[in-house]
Amino acid sequence: MDAIRTYVERNRSRHERELADWVAVPSVSATGEGMPEATEHARRLVEGSGLAPRVVETGGWPLVTGHAKGPDGSPHVVIYGHYDVQPPGPLGEWDSPPFQATVRGGRMYGRGTGDNKGQHLAQLLALRALRDEGGGLPCSVTVVLDGEEEIGSPHLTDTLASMREEIDADVALWSDGPVHDSYEPTVSLGVRGALSFEITVRGASSALHSGNWGNVAPNPAWELVWLLAGMRGPDGRIGVRGHDDGVTPLTDGERDALRALPVDAAAVLAGAGLDRMDAHPDGPGYNERLALPTFSINSLSCLDGDDHRTVIPSVAVARCDMRLACGQRVRTVQDAVRAHARARLPHAEVRFKVGMEPSRTLPDAPFAEAVARGVGEAAGKPALLAPAQGGSLPIAALTDGLGLPCYGIPLANVDERNHAPNENFELRRFHDGIVTAASALLSVGKAGR
Ligand SMILES: [Zn+2]
Repeated sequence: MDAIRTYVERNRSRHERELADWVAVPSVSATGEGMPEATEHARRLVEGSGLAPRVVETGGWPLVTGHAKGPDGSPHVVIYGHYDVQPPGPLGEWDSPPFQATVRGGRMYGRGTGDNKGQHLAQLLALRALRDEGGGLPCSVTVVLDGEEEIGSPHLTDTLASMREEIDADVALWSDGPVHDSYEPTVSLGVRGALSFEITVRGASSALHSGNWGNVAPNPAWELVWLLAGMRGPDGRIGVRGHDDGVTPLTDGERDALRALPVDAAAVLAGAGLDRMDAHPDGPGYNERLALPTFSINSLSCLDGDDHRTVIPSVAVARCDMRLACGQRVRTVQDAVRAHARARLPHAEVRFKVGMEPSRTLPDAPFAEAVARGVGEAAGKPALLAPAQGGSLPIAALTDGLGLPCYGIPLANVDERNHAPNENFELRRFHDGIVTAASALLSVGKAGR
């Protein structure tokens, strides 16, 4: 490990330059901006870390993969990351151009610095460090870089399933999202799934005078509000019958791990300008909440202008998402939402967008201890296991699709502002991340198959 640390220290500026060059290639899967160039850039990065690269067509944006064989009998590790990024959003809110990496105050700013270019680049540089200074790779490695994560990875599961035999791995690792709020070293065991949808209620063909038409023309905004009110009560109970079919309760091991995660709930709330927690019928603890199903209204609007006019709007739209707990299935939840809307407001239109299945690896699954030991050794203190990570990633393709235990080693700072303007990655975390990734692989290699 000392050799790896020295290598990382010696190559700081080179690695930062490589990250800046990577951020400078836009890769917005939602619009296609820069995608072909980004695929090629990802292929070169994979090759540059000593792997045999491959661009795998998916029917959408391609996967970029790379493989290298480790010592005979060593475990085969899949490393998952994604090379696409979110659209930059409002350019006026960026302090520096989103696709021109800029260093300020020890952080690199730019779209994709944390999510996910800096994080998978740290993984790739760890492979390079292990080959150049660490005596070679301790495991066989297959890197999979997704080009469609930010649009819900619609082709990942099928594409990986078609590669199942050639991948034939033992364990999967990924680095995405921020480190734990407490900044303690943490290994993520699972993610919630996600389902986003839009409910549209239409009224008259255009907005109508509320005096001339009130009590006569139905108001789509009232209809929508009424529909939504029945979908989640003031106590937080989700009223969409069947949405939680199949939810599997947390195991004792998961509950213990959740309880062991340090959190100062009052401080976290205060940091977000809140003085209370959301209502929940079961009153679970802070960490457990991040493992349970959610239903959020993301926005409400009437498409008749933002100014206040005394009208009956013609269209009302609610954008919503649900986070899915373990055992929930996207298809089942979609059916439940559609049935709920159809039964109560038949002319409401429900349009589903991103759907991602939840993923779960139990705390006593193979390699859990090895990964945690590796992460802990890099950090100089024991790593905690986090059964649920709140957010969503398409790693059910790895756990459910390929049948692999799957471990997340998030590297970015808590305030990385992923998806928002001024996304950033603390550079010391980027460099430390290379060490962490290398340490995890060494530990998995030591554990053997
Ligand atoms: Zn993202």
